[in-house]
Amino acid sequence: MTKETWGRVCNELLKTVGKSNYTTWIAPLRMIDMSEGIAAFEAPTKFMRDWVSRNFGEAILRELRNDGHVVERIEFRVPELRPIPANEVSRPAVAAPAPAAPKARAEEDLPGAPLDARFTFDNFVVGKPNELAHAAARRVAEGGPVTFNPLFLYGGVGLGKTHLMHAIAHELQIRRPEARVRYLSAEQFMYRFVQALRERQIMDFKEMFRSVDVLMVDDVQFIAGKDSTQEEFFHTFNALVDQGKQIIISADRAPGEIKDLEERIKSRLQCGLVVDLHPTDYELRLGILQTKTEAYRAQYPGLKMADGVLEFLAHRITTNVRVLEGALTRLFAFASLVGKEITLDLAQECLTDILRASDRKVTIEEIQRKVAEHYNVRLSDMIGPKRVRTIARPRQVAMYLSKQLTTRSLPEIGRRFGGRDHTTIMHGIRKIEELMGSDRQIAEDIDLLRRLLES
Ligand code: ADP
Ligand code: MG
Repeated sequence: MTKETWGRVCNELLKTVGKSNYTTWIAPLRMIDMSEGIAAFEAPTKFMRDWVSRNFGEAILRELRNDGHVVERIEFRVPELRPIPANEVSRPAVAAPAPAAPKARAEEDLPGAPLDARFTFDNFVVGKPNELAHAAARRVAEGGPVTFNPLFLYGGVGLGKTHLMHAIAHELQIRRPEARVRYLSAEQFMYRFVQALRERQIMDFKEMFRSVDVLMVDDVQFIAGKDSTQEEFFHTFNALVDQGKQIIISADRAPGEIKDLEERIKSRLQCGLVVDLHPTDYELRLGILQTKTEAYRAQYPGLKMADGVLEFLAHRITTNVRVLEGALTRLFAFASLVGKEITLDLAQECLTDILRASDRKVTIEEIQRKVAEHYNVRLSDMIGPKRVRTIARPRQVAMYLSKQLTTRSLPEIGRRFGGRDHTTIMHGIRKIEELMGSDRQIAEDIDLLRRLLES
């Protein structure tokens, strides 16, 4: 098959899958062979191979046939740097080996992990909790003079650290195609390092890492406690910073809080800009759901969704974005299978397990503890009789939150606040409601505490 025929087929695919799908998934494919009824393509990464094969395999096959080719099936391959272990081969390999793509030297020498094509800035929804991290990532991605080094992103699971790092890499590839950008997890860093030690190629290893322009290491908490890896990481880090090369690091917590990480590394990591991704809030979750729903609408045309479903999900699934995405994916797949409109009932039925897991119960004791911590009063004073304002006010805040965040009745709440009467509890709640309208500090305290308790 010639370039022209593939070009023709691409034009047809562009119409059927839409522009954004086309540029993300089809355009990067390279047709490498077509013989004996098998059309073989090369995809840049494993992830893309799997995704394209699952989602666009049928369409490609159809268009090839429409173009008059006798094709039985399609094969997608990835340029491999090492032989594929047997258990990774899902299908028998085709007879004719694919002509190896000529690779740039840098590509061969620099071990990095493949980038997820979906993790772009365009696909990243910005809200209050991730605003700062996003802005910092954008700045680094501009590729101008290094302003903060390293950029240290931290936050809980599934809040978008990896997404932002990949987005930086994608952006840099466009803006500074000549720059050598390497992204890898701390685990891969260690693996490479150990391998280099074993094969006595430590000099090569050092040289390799010291020759990049931008180095990104994801989940750096992983190397805590792994002494020789830490040591090597530290030297690589220093060498790159000294050369004015940009470094971007992520971890699940702030540098100072990573246990078993050497002090000198901690302080080095804190030298640049440290920004955190906060737990999502309702608006951000809703925004993410809306964005992803748009994408799904293209994939499942004709599927209807009732009002309020996204709001319901944003309200109920508060753990992390990955779970939120998983819920939506399942919902669309399920609805299209059964051919029904997505309603609240359908969502509840299809997501029972996720909803139940997210239904973390906050206890009154937890509320009392967090509030006491926040206002720096003793936990025993929450329950005790003292009536000075500095104690009574936090106590009322805790009462208010107990009513808001648990299903306990007023008498039950009263009992846990040292056997107070339910009218006392009601009074406390009213007082706080009143203050929230007039006192910004109280309103902010409540907001913060609620977020802490719900995360
Ligand atoms: P982390 O590395 O912090 O554990 P990831 O970057 O892997 O989290 O994000 C988990 C999933 O949630 C990914 O699929 C990512 O695309 C998605 N995600 C996280 N934050 C956002 C966001 N603000 N907008 C869109 N998608 C997001
Ligand atoms: Mg991650």
